[in-house]
Amino acid sequence: MEFAAFAERAGEIEAESADLEIVDHVTALLEEANDDLEVVARFVQGRVVPAWDSTTLDVGPSTCYEAIARAAGTNVSADDVEEQLAEVGEIGEVAAGYDFGGQQGLSAFTGGGADDLTVREVHETLTDLADSSGSGSQDRKVDLLFGLFNRCSSAEARYLARLVLSEMRIGVGEGTVRDAIAAAFDVPASRVERALQVSNDYGRVAVVARDEGLEGLDALELEVGRPVQAMLAQAGTVTGALEDWEVAAVEWKYDGARVQLHHDPDGETRVFSRNLEDVTDALPEVVEFADEHLEVSTILDGEVVAVDDAGEPLPFQEVLRRFRRKHDIAKARENVAVRPVFFDCLHADGEDLLEAPLTERHARLESLLTDEGLSILWHTDDPAAIESIDAEALEAGHEGIMLKDPDSAYSPGRRGKHWRKRKPDVETLDCVVTGAEWGEGRRATFLGTFELSIRDGDEYATVGKVATGITDEKLAELTELLEPHVRAQDGREVDLEPAVVFEVGAEEIQTSPTYSSGYALRFPRFIGVRHDKDPADADSLERVEALRKL
Ligand code: AMP
Repeated sequence: MEFAAFAERAGEIEAESADLEIVDHVTALLEEANDDLEVVARFVQGRVVPAWDSTTLDVGPSTCYEAIARAAGTNVSADDVEEQLAEVGEIGEVAAGYDFGGQQGLSAFTGGGADDLTVREVHETLTDLADSSGSGSQDRKVDLLFGLFNRCSSAEARYLARLVLSEMRIGVGEGTVRDAIAAAFDVPASRVERALQVSNDYGRVAVVARDEGLEGLDALELEVGRPVQAMLAQAGTVTGALEDWEVAAVEWKYDGARVQLHHDPDGETRVFSRNLEDVTDALPEVVEFADEHLEVSTILDGEVVAVDDAGEPLPFQEVLRRFRRKHDIAKARENVAVRPVFFDCLHADGEDLLEAPLTERHARLESLLTDEGLSILWHTDDPAAIESIDAEALEAGHEGIMLKDPDSAYSPGRRGKHWRKRKPDVETLDCVVTGAEWGEGRRATFLGTFELSIRDGDEYATVGKVATGITDEKLAELTELLEPHVRAQDGREVDLEPAVVFEVGAEEIQTSPTYSSGYALRFPRFIGVRHDKDPADADSLERVEALRKL
């Protein structure tokens, strides 16, 4: 395919605003691509290599400006190109504005004829560009790009410049290419989607759809060593999760960075970041972990956390520092160690598990890993139990919890409702503790189930109770703090004089006939004792009313 034909289609697509029409244009483009289908299916999305491949062209904007300037003529400098860009705002428009092809005697070849630039040549040159590294490589990159621009018409230059700088932006998203592949080669979009998820390569899927049809698509599988898009989470609440699923799978949310581990016991181990960048060299601990614990081929999804000498988690920034580290890894590792925790299993011992329910995938994970490196997954329909898990997570220095649909498949790249990170609390409130209950059984000597109140004029009005999510150790401490303030006791219930202030978080504030303030905290969570506050400094009914309106 001639690059001019690709550029023409790209121009039509860009000028179109209706989604369906865009799909029609992309479909036509794929049908016309013939031998270049693999490349065209990537180019139309602004990609030069498959999505699983983290190879970059490593062409900075200045390299590109330099090449454009050189092709534009002796009176144009890279600075001029940059100035134009500041004015016009978009590199494609700038490149399209120059008259290329007059340099170094090549003018005879431009404007049609035997030397028209082809998609294949552009691809080969860009691949060459990606491959050149080391000293002198920037000059070579400018030379290669110059060679391309010098043969470009205005329309070709527009899309070449954008392709090189990964700024295609013609309105073709992943869904568009999926639908276009389905339409062009008469296969169901849902099966194209599955094939895209496992292969993470639009070029390959387009070719397989055309040449092998549905059977070929369905035969595509995950490959150890080729990362897939990570499944993503959206914000959600405990209430919502339990309404939607009855039983929720609950897990700690680790404050680290996402990793996808690909381990082949007879071959290589690679580690990829959330952006599918190969971070293997920066994280030798993860490779060692795999060598030590995994005996079969696996693809695992998890998080790496930075830990201090005692194994306690360190802030997220420390992990990022390790991710970015390219040199002196051994030294970096001495300062901050990282530890992987895996929460999902996409492939084990030759078997793809993307479509298996979470519960099954996790069971598989448990069969592969001992306690070390394994994230625990609880199943519960009890909000109180979820509160406890949340409290333990926070206590252990993690971010909170993730709520997952136990029956859900692994959907690469999807920010769906199946994974929910618990929404941060609306706000925290400082409440006075005005009552409590003695515990039962193991907790009989502890006060628990604390009644929370806010100030209402000179009085206190109740807003809820916080019972769960407090460890035994903490309960002992709170009992010691509150017992001197017991005013009366009735069975297990005690009435407390207002003295101690708790900081409490909540998912929501609702109106309620149960409590004297007329409001109830939904999923209250004990955060800590405000030793610095007296009951007179606790939050007021006015504040609760104001928060409720937020
Ligand atoms: P966020 O980055 O705030 O959108 O939260 C989602 C991220 O939390 C994921 O991409 C993971 O990197 C991270 N995470 C931590 N713990 C878990 C877990 N147990 N399950 C899934 N994701 C987790």
